[in-house]
Amino acid sequence: MEKKPDLLSMTKDELREYAVSIGEAPYRGDQIFSFFAKGARFREMTTLSKALREKLESLAECRMPSVVTKRRSKDGTTVKYLLSLIDGECVEAVLMRHDYGTSLCISSQVGCLMGCKFCASTIAGKVRDLLPSEMLGQVAAASRDSGERVDKLVMMGIGEPLDNYDNTVKFLRLLNDSEGIGLGLRNVSLSTCGIVPGIRRLADEGLPVTLSVSLHAYCDETRRAIMPIAKKYTLDELLAACRYYFDRTGRRVSFEYTLISGKNDSPEDAKGLSALLREKMGVPSHVNLIPLNRVDGTGMEPTGREGAERFAALLNSLGQNATVRKSMGADIDAACGQLRRSLQNGKTEV
Ligand code: SF4
Repeated sequence: MEKKPDLLSMTKDELREYAVSIGEAPYRGDQIFSFFAKGARFREMTTLSKALREKLESLAECRMPSVVTKRRSKDGTTVKYLLSLIDGECVEAVLMRHDYGTSLCISSQVGCLMGCKFCASTIAGKVRDLLPSEMLGQVAAASRDSGERVDKLVMMGIGEPLDNYDNTVKFLRLLNDSEGIGLGLRNVSLSTCGIVPGIRRLADEGLPVTLSVSLHAYCDETRRAIMPIAKKYTLDELLAACRYYFDRTGRRVSFEYTLISGKNDSPEDAKGLSALLREKMGVPSHVNLIPLNRVDGTGMEPTGREGAERFAALLNSLGQNATVRKSMGADIDAACGQLRRSLQNGKTEV
């Protein structure tokens, strides 16, 4: 059977061309584009005629995800969505309310190939990449459900965005279109476990997104023990790519560092980290310290809050800018991949 066109993955120009190809006026493409930004499906595009809506239903595909379930943290600051895709696969998105506005963390793949030892998303491997429509749809669906505009987007949910490069870049361009969701790319952070060629390629795209690199260790040996990607690219290669990103985009790179008790949280680790970034980056960068979210079966324990604050203080005293990330939504399995995993294990009441 011929595959139906995925309209939500199309740019405005592509949608205009598509409208013409099915015998409609080009401006119909613009109308469909702005309806998608509101999370609408074909049947809800009420300014289109009923006949056109039916035509779209039969000829094309709308990959807008549906909300399967959502969990709200007790303090009301965090809502975690489990979203189902057209083929029944599920991904997660987390909406967080901060003083500065609303941020949304989305997924870029169903599962993940990268195998980071502390992460729930990778336990069953990667099922498939998400299409641009399925990333854009997470933003539109969460925004519609919550009634809130997303001010900041973080690509830090399930999956490795640079392992799904073309779809991710197309999604970012769609997200930025002022007649669609219209989110400024300076308000987007893209997190990677350190795919060096992807970082270099992204640096040359002309997209001013903040690059957020998962470091988690200051030496290759420790990093290899917790992140298989470190066997492919050394820290030297990774930080050279990060420096290239800074030079090309002028954007300060942010480094994620998950604190794991007894593995990477000693004063020597903090000193090594600050020396590494000073030597290899040589420009201001920020370290985000993340208290580990416990995942069953990994045997890894989080560093306590006090230990994390001490680690941050030591980094700052050594001239390396660092903060401890506020752990939001711990009561709702808000860490990457945990809600989807609970569903797979039959623990989630839907
Ligand atoms: S931390 Fe990110 S890159 Fe690593 S396995 Fe989890 S989802 Fe994949």
